[in-house]
Amino acid sequence: MRILFVTPEAFPLIKTGGLADVSGALPASMKRLGHDIRILIPGYPTVLKKIINSSFLCTLYNIPSIEAVNILIGEMPDTGVPVMAIQSDLLYDRPSGPYGDENGKDWDDNAIRFGILSFVAARLSREDSPMKDWIPDLVHCNDWQTGLVPAYLHFMRHDHPKIKQAKSLFSIHNMAFQGCHTPQWLGPLNLPAKSFQIEGLEYYGQLSFLKAGIFYADGLSTVSPTYSKEIQKKEYGFGLQELLTKRGNEIHGILNGFDTKEWNPATDKYLEYHYNDKKIAGKAKVKNALLAKLGLTIHAKTPLLGVISRLTYQKGLDMLLECAETLIEHHHCQLAILGSGEKSFEQSFQNLAKKFPEQVSTNIEYNEELSHKIMAGSDIFIMPSRFEPCGLNQMYGLRYGTPPVVSNTGGLADSIVDSNEVTIGNDTATGFVMPEINTYQLLAATRRAINSFHDETTWKKIQTNGMRQNLDWSNSAQRYVEMYEEILNK
Ligand code: ADP
Repeated sequence: MRILFVTPEAFPLIKTGGLADVSGALPASMKRLGHDIRILIPGYPTVLKKIINSSFLCTLYNIPSIEAVNILIGEMPDTGVPVMAIQSDLLYDRPSGPYGDENGKDWDDNAIRFGILSFVAARLSREDSPMKDWIPDLVHCNDWQTGLVPAYLHFMRHDHPKIKQAKSLFSIHNMAFQGCHTPQWLGPLNLPAKSFQIEGLEYYGQLSFLKAGIFYADGLSTVSPTYSKEIQKKEYGFGLQELLTKRGNEIHGILNGFDTKEWNPATDKYLEYHYNDKKIAGKAKVKNALLAKLGLTIHAKTPLLGVISRLTYQKGLDMLLECAETLIEHHHCQLAILGSGEKSFEQSFQNLAKKFPEQVSTNIEYNEELSHKIMAGSDIFIMPSRFEPCGLNQMYGLRYGTPPVVSNTGGLADSIVDSNEVTIGNDTATGFVMPEINTYQLLAATRRAINSFHDETTWKKIQTNGMRQNLDWSNSAQRYVEMYEEILNK
């Protein structure tokens, strides 16, 4: 199969969250399975710098608002997956992140920046593309930034029905990010005014890129089976639950795998000491090195709770803030926090570190190296998300012998088996699941984790159960192939 994989971020070129990890690893697995896959990504400065062997491929003309863009082609570092970058200084040559400035404020022209990503993907997915020797069978779109690809393909087919074009798959990695823009962007994006209606692009008076993807794509998927059901309910559907319910039978829920070479405690390039499921002792050395680095006191019997996260309401860390003092003072825990996001969360975690300098380390930054060190050096990973489409960190926690405390939602529910007498007895327990999402349940589940931590035999069982899970992309990539085939045969 020939697949165009369109994404706004891909590790190691550029990353703000889990989508980048998926976009780095899934195409590589597809390539290993023998499929002809290429990534299409905006040419942000870091992307242009990191692509290997890049060269000019073609110029695309008649682009909405900006007339022309160049397409470069090169390879992903490490995996060699072909990657095409859209070069446009006007759109993508900005300092700071892919979506906004250093204060986290979205760029005002994101509608155009990602509308054009979508337009280019659609143009490259048709027989009249200037890239004549490489027309994809299927275009795989990811999240709102690519939501207009299926819409453009729909309008292009309407205008030129005889020209063959690729089928589209739209993967939802997070319903909370909708890409809503004022309808004034319809003109600059060359979108037909009549498409701005309920049966089309309109969402409560706004132009919604997410809705466009859901409405027009030939196939739909989400990143875990539980989330594929949850988004059809009011609590998780962000107003799109009815549309999703109409297509309910078609929505595939496929749990993400992850790059088990990048995330492997036996070889991790960021760690001074290594360990595996058979020789777990090295983990204690990693923990001590981490505590020393973070300036926390070293006590072998004190459980270190790790958090690596966007600091947002979705991630439920306000609940951790509410019970943190109890955990520190009554349960003698330490906390290593890494993340950034909403200012109020950042401030509260910083205040906590000031109040308990020997117990709490708060690191407000994005730091790949420290994230590996915290994942490996912590005893328990805390992830009480209010909703979690898939989540990767809990899976990294399994792999690193850092059993997670998670809420019972989305991919957390699909990837973690709660520890109890039965699951410990049959060697399936891998973590601690909160039956409901509130502070008391977080406290209760963390207390259960701490009690198990103090029981060496039980703890080792839970750790090794998690470390032995098969979490790479092989199973899930095969399921994507089956879904691609199903869409192509529709
Ligand atoms: P989401 O995509 O919702 O943010 P996921 O758990 O799916 O959450 O993936 C988050 C990814 O981003 C993980 O690879 C995690 O390690 C990484 N990450 C999040 N915050 C940071 C940070 N501050 N520094 C380094 N890595 C981070």
